[in-house]
Amino acid sequence: MGVCPPARMAQLRDNFTGLLHPWARPEVLTCTSWGAPIVWDGTFDPDAARQQATRQNLTIGLTVFAVGRYLEKYLERFLESAEQHFMVGQRVVYYVFTERPAAVPHVPLGPGRMLRVERVVRERRWQDVSMQRMHTLHEALGGRLGREAHFVLCMDVDQHFSAAFGPEALGESVAQLHAWHYRWPRRLLPFERDSRSAAALGPGEGDFYYHAAVFGGSVAALRGLTAHCARGLRRDRERGLEARWHDESHLNKFFWLHKPAKVLSPEFCWCPDLGRRPDIRCPRLLWAPKEYAELRD
Ligand code: UDP
Ligand code: MN
Repeated sequence: MGVCPPARMAQLRDNFTGLLHPWARPEVLTCTSWGAPIVWDGTFDPDAARQQATRQNLTIGLTVFAVGRYLEKYLERFLESAEQHFMVGQRVVYYVFTERPAAVPHVPLGPGRMLRVERVVRERRWQDVSMQRMHTLHEALGGRLGREAHFVLCMDVDQHFSAAFGPEALGESVAQLHAWHYRWPRRLLPFERDSRSAAALGPGEGDFYYHAAVFGGSVAALRGLTAHCARGLRRDRERGLEARWHDESHLNKFFWLHKPAKVLSPEFCWCPDLGRRPDIRCPRLLWAPKEYAELRD
């Protein structure tokens, strides 16, 4: 399953993965039909990735929203674990978006790392908080974040890092395989199917189901992604529609139309409820238990 056609090998020597070894994981798919690497533990050289990022003197942005009760519940652990595992040794700027800047915890940061807090308006419905992120990110990428970062990863806050999450995860545009769905047949994937929605995928469309809890890329690529998704979300709202999985549905539509340059295996955003699996060798980011009754009004 994981064997890569030789013609694709050149493309697989992609940025920040060092020399890739797709054959090191013959039991999983390690490249897409369009030649993008699917990054699994063992297929990349973390030291080479680190060195390449250091040579390029990168600044890496990490954006996270912590609105309402998500702030107290998740933000501190997210940031503390990021200090231990996220892009260690690189220049990092955290962007925390919240309606209560004064409540952001003071997490001690390593050298070369800083945290910026951006105020956002709290939307009433949790679905709107989630969806509004695309518009807010688009504006931030057009402002200071876009000027100071080369690459940006955009993440949910209800998770924490558990192992090294380094520059091997960077690329021109990066999508995350959804832990629940990476083994499902394509026709069963939970894409938006209502053809009236801007996020709709027709029968036979869709490559993989991507998780909106992690996506990233260059500033230019993310400007395009967030503009596309924000536009689709607005258009749906004007028509009284809401896609099945909100912003995630629009993200999946975007990546169907604009194939990601790199795909992260579910090791990069794993759901511990799924238990131990032989293909998940090294989970790097773990979902927190969903406690919606406590978090959502
Ligand atoms: N979020 C938030 N406050 C809310 C709802 C959402 O801060 O009231 C942010 C937070 O970063 C969260 C993300 O939006 O991780 C997506 O929402 P959630 O994690 O609840 O969605 P799920 O992962 O269950 O699809
Ligand atoms: Mn989440």
